[in-house]
Amino acid sequence: MKHLYGTLSFEPEFQQLIRTTPDAEDTFPDPIIQVQKQASQLRQFLKKLKFPDIPVETLVVITNSQSRISLSDSTTYTRKHVIRDTVLVKRIEKLTSQYTTLIFDPKLLRKATRILLTSHMPSTFEPLEFYRIELDQLLGGVHCPKCDALPMRRLHGKWVCPSCYYQSKLAHINSLVDYVLLVSDTITNREACEFLKIAKDTARRMLKSLKTVETGTTKDKKFELVIDNLVKSIKKEDI
Ligand SMILES: [Zn+2]
Repeated sequence: MKHLYGTLSFEPEFQQLIRTTPDAEDTFPDPIIQVQKQASQLRQFLKKLKFPDIPVETLVVITNSQSRISLSDSTTYTRKHVIRDTVLVKRIEKLTSQYTTLIFDPKLLRKATRILLTSHMPSTFEPLEFYRIELDQLLGGVHCPKCDALPMRRLHGKWVCPSCYYQSKLAHINSLVDYVLLVSDTITNREACEFLKIAKDTARRMLKSLKTVETGTTKDKKFELVIDNLVKSIKKEDI
């Protein structure tokens, strides 16, 4: 699943994906190869545990309806592997009808699921350290959940997008999810001010409204950020 915005040009001949936005052009590793590698790792994992071999289909799903997909070649290869989320269910149904042999009976499937879940290790990947990016190099502010523009303006208790005029009450929650993924799963009032580019009292109100665990003294109080809870509260506001 990729939620990239802008024009996405798949160039399989060079194993790359180019994302073009009005401000920049970025190069990413080809996600088709990425997901095929994951499929191969899954098959190896199952083999190691003596589970039966199964066919594993791969797909790159583009979830941002604002993005434009562009293909550098007209081969069916990329067309077959890249789809939008709107046709995902249809594609799964098609694949399901192609594979009718039962390989994992319900009992075996439960066993495999249990082993997969218990083998899951939380990622220790530190993106800022890995890419040698300083915290103050990150673009601060709240981004628009609809068009990803940055920063949204705070107006009468709401976030307003300067680009598409979308209004949101909860857009800052997305930025707090980014904060957890990039920086830390706890945040102080001062850190929230700097990251979200908001005033002290606004930050305090927003963090309080998360109704999350608070630790430390008043001066250096830390708020715990739990991704699952943050994501649940974003879902209250449909885009
Ligand atoms: Zn917008």
